[in-house]
Amino acid sequence: MRHVICARCVKCGRAYDAVPDLTNCACGGILDIIYDYDYIKSVLHKEDLADRPYDMWRYRELLPVEPDTLLPPLRVGWSPLYEAERLAKQLGVRKLWIKDDGLNPTASLKDRASAMAVAKATEAGAEVIACSSTGNAASSLAGNAAAAGLRTYIFVPSRAPKGKLAQLMSFGATVISVQGSYEDTFELSRQAIARWGWYNRNAAINPYLSEGKKTVGLEILEQLHWEVPDYIAISVGDGCTIAGLWKGLKDLYAIGWIDRLPRLIAVQAAGCCPINRAVEENAPWRPMEENTLADSIAVGVPRNPDKAIAAIRGSRGLTVEVTDEEILTAQKLLGTSCGVFGEPAGVTGTAGLKKLCQQGRIPAEATVVSVVTGNGLKDVANAIRASGEPISVPADLGQLLEAFAQRGIAPEAQSG
Ligand SMILES: *Cc1c(COP(=O)(O)O)cnc(C)c1O
Ligand SMILES: [Zn+2]
Repeated sequence: MRHVICARCVKCGRAYDAVPDLTNCACGGILDIIYDYDYIKSVLHKEDLADRPYDMWRYRELLPVEPDTLLPPLRVGWSPLYEAERLAKQLGVRKLWIKDDGLNPTASLKDRASAMAVAKATEAGAEVIACSSTGNAASSLAGNAAAAGLRTYIFVPSRAPKGKLAQLMSFGATVISVQGSYEDTFELSRQAIARWGWYNRNAAINPYLSEGKKTVGLEILEQLHWEVPDYIAISVGDGCTIAGLWKGLKDLYAIGWIDRLPRLIAVQAAGCCPINRAVEENAPWRPMEENTLADSIAVGVPRNPDKAIAAIRGSRGLTVEVTDEEILTAQKLLGTSCGVFGEPAGVTGTAGLKKLCQQGRIPAEATVVSVVTGNGLKDVANAIRASGEPISVPADLGQLLEAFAQRGIAPEAQSG
């Protein structure tokens, strides 16, 4: 890879050749892929993007794959960025865009990392990939691997919602539901991967995954015609997503395509917020209970705290924690004001943005992007909790009138 210099440990600085099956540094630190930006500047120009396919691989010169690597077949990336005028007004910011990453092929932002994992596994000549996940990394790996003809072993905590399990089974993965926390699940997968030598798609172990996730940042900026928003809000679990987002933004700055960087808004669940707490207390992170219904970010022992904390600090970012109730309120708010359906962790970024606006921590002239990271169909039970049950009536117009009257619904007044 002419454009990649090496993989460097974020802890001790040791450099490694960027071989396809990289994992952590010998010191236990996480690796970061280092690029030759001067070279990239000489071979990639904004105009080159015009006639490329609309998927994450359109930024290939900024991605750590060989020029001749066979890319996985599912169409990942280029999710819509909607301008949300009504919601912007309601929250009190000048402009707001919703990036709906729940519209990826397996319905979450994790597809960006999993497509990268499949590409790198292909380079490594691997036929089996494994991962442990709170759910979405698993379902996206299973889907992207199935499309590429690779087999998967997947470890999920037993609390994973049915929608995600249904996807896994449908994609033909070998699924191990671990009776324990995400921490327990991760540990069992680590032992199994070591025992059987599978290609490792565990986030924060495999340094290429963040490079896939960074394409969400590249896309947001291209979709905004390289006009930099003041803030980007996103939910945080292990920390790989926010770290990836930040890496993408910094890449664009490094090649001179943007002239400043947005501030990140890191949103965690109040019941599980070890990364935000470390930032707020300016202290090392400590494990927390996994006490939230937003299963995708219920990560008590984060796998990528170093990169995530660096991203929040480096962007002069804001942190905010939201309760489960605030998450469910945001889910309904996005649905009713934008027609965007997110899973609880998917809408947590928006819940945090709303809270910061209410606290007066976001200036009224600000421009903001909120990333919805996963689709609401992943977790239907909580969606119904957020939005309630339908009006149930017998097939009788009289009874319908009565039901409307009971609920204060006045159909005539709203028509015409
Ligand atoms: C994984 C995930 C996140 C958080 O990403 P991390 O890398 O764990 O911080 C947020 N939302 C959804 C829907 C996810 O699946
Ligand atoms: Zn190291």
